[in-house]
Amino acid sequence: MTLERHGFQAEVSRLLQIVAHSLYSDKSVFLRELISNASDACDKLRYLALTQPELLEGGGELAVTLTIDKKAKTLTIADNGIGMNKDDLISHLGTIARSGSAKFVEELEQAKSADDKVSLIGQFGVGFYSAFMVADNVTVLSRKAGETQGWRWISDGTGEFTIEAADKPTRGTEITLHLKKGESEWLEAARLEHVIAKHSEHVALPIHLVDGAEPKHVNQQAALWTKSKSEVTTEQYRDFYRHLAHAFDDPWATIHYKAEGKIDYTALLFIPSMRPFDLFNPERKQSLKLYAKRVFITDQSDEILPGWLRFVKGLVDSEDLQLNVSREMLQASPLLAKIRAALVKRVLSELTKRANDDDKAPYETFWDNFGPVLKEGLYEDPAQRDELLKLVRFRSTASDGWVSLADYIGRLKEGQKAIYYIAGDQLDALSRSAQLEGFKAKGIEVLLLTDPIDEFWIPAVEKFEDKEFRSVTRAGADLSDVKADDKKDEAKKPVAENIDALISFLKMTYKDAVKDVRISERLTDSACCLVADSGDMDMHMERLLRQHKRLEASLPRVLEVNGSHPLVSAMAKQATKDGDWPELAETAWLLLDQARIQDGEPPADPAAFVKRLNAALAKAI
Ligand code: ADP
Ligand code: MG
Repeated sequence: MTLERHGFQAEVSRLLQIVAHSLYSDKSVFLRELISNASDACDKLRYLALTQPELLEGGGELAVTLTIDKKAKTLTIADNGIGMNKDDLISHLGTIARSGSAKFVEELEQAKSADDKVSLIGQFGVGFYSAFMVADNVTVLSRKAGETQGWRWISDGTGEFTIEAADKPTRGTEITLHLKKGESEWLEAARLEHVIAKHSEHVALPIHLVDGAEPKHVNQQAALWTKSKSEVTTEQYRDFYRHLAHAFDDPWATIHYKAEGKIDYTALLFIPSMRPFDLFNPERKQSLKLYAKRVFITDQSDEILPGWLRFVKGLVDSEDLQLNVSREMLQASPLLAKIRAALVKRVLSELTKRANDDDKAPYETFWDNFGPVLKEGLYEDPAQRDELLKLVRFRSTASDGWVSLADYIGRLKEGQKAIYYIAGDQLDALSRSAQLEGFKAKGIEVLLLTDPIDEFWIPAVEKFEDKEFRSVTRAGADLSDVKADDKKDEAKKPVAENIDALISFLKMTYKDAVKDVRISERLTDSACCLVADSGDMDMHMERLLRQHKRLEASLPRVLEVNGSHPLVSAMAKQATKDGDWPELAETAWLLLDQARIQDGEPPADPAAFVKRLNAALAKAI
């Protein structure tokens, strides 16, 4: 049979380089990864065998076997699971199939410390490739269940791998690691047992260790979730979470309960304390595993939890599910719909409990990590809206920390009828926005929204406790209804005389470049700002739509001018004189461009802008 050479996908090559050459603090990760692959392979076979029992023929009990060969300096991890044929080997062990892999490699290359790298690898699970942390040569011999031909895959982890037909008497996969110099600790049975006890104790399969003599059964194999809460220690929960979620952090919350009665099931759910880097990848896998009577069914079901809880890891094991349930049946299963509703309720009540904790810091960590995902629920799940609105936290002009809607309502000014917000990309720029000036002057709190999702849930939700959400970029936000703090009102400066003449002049000059020109109620420091007319689309929303090519041209805006600003007063004085004021027109255009720049947009005509600015500066010097 011929030997074929294949190059690794470019990302894999770069990944392997990082994996092989970084100094990891904890290389034992490779063992957990390979054992978990073996255990996945057995789970997959067991599931397929529910409908094709012949696949199990001649394989014995499903198990993982580690074999130490001190002479050859090899460690072999073998399983009698589903196995891989030639195509599987090429695609599974030559590429990173998951989307976002390029981004992952990029982040990995940029990670500074070894710890950062390990944690990235853990979140992503470089999985199989972690073998090259300890091995300078890896051989994979595999035969797929139901097929007769075996295949041998070999690589030294640099650039390419070979593949050839090979004899393999039984189904399954055998991965032989030829250990690097300095990695002989992986030939010590005691060392391996220690790592297995730490990471793989809860693997549901027997793990056997062969070191010359008789195989030894080295794991407990107890399904942790079947125990009662009081029997499980925090460390055990943590290790199980790490095993299940391929994570390196501690769970931020652990929810473990048994439901009995109309439906019988056990749930063990974890909320991570770190945000995985691919949280916003729409193709991100669901991370909840579904078991039926302790047999793994699937981790691909969208039916167990809604997308806006996709950060929750864990498993559900039901006594009532049919073992041979198909994916289509899962989708239509009323049982699963009930379980899902119950899980959502549990997670929300745990979050509510923690949100009301006296110590605000832990909940805020959670919110930092997963808040934007939770907010997706506000428009996707109207039934949970009231509950979710109590959990949402915001940045605001009133405080440096996070504020809740209840905090906001508690600080409403007399006469204030709406919950004001401003949306944009950057918190810093937002909090300095000219549009906020009048609100600040009257002491009205404004929520600062920076997540793209905000533009979608706000129109869907509309209100909180009969107060409407209203963007400050819409001119309709009526400041005159709100009573100002007394002191602040006194400071209000007089509006320039002749302001009306200036306004008419500006309208004539700008023509269609703006929708209208008005005297501002909101500005105190800036000369002008652009706002949306009360019925028009919020300005940040419009920008988002333009970025995504959903909207071609920008909508004309209303220019508000600050009648008491020195520049505006000076312009107003000019506007009363006879003539057609060509210089005043130049200043008018500078004024409009200024407003655009303050909103983070370029001047309408950058070259003309520079020319006008230079002319004005030359005159001033
Ligand atoms: P992951 O396990 O997260 O999918 P890995 O890099 O660990 O990523 O493995 C890549 C793929 O290779 C697996 O999804 C699986 O299809 C295949 N694979 C790895 N090890 C085995 C094995 N022991 N038996 C069968 N297939 C395997
Ligand atoms: Mg894996």
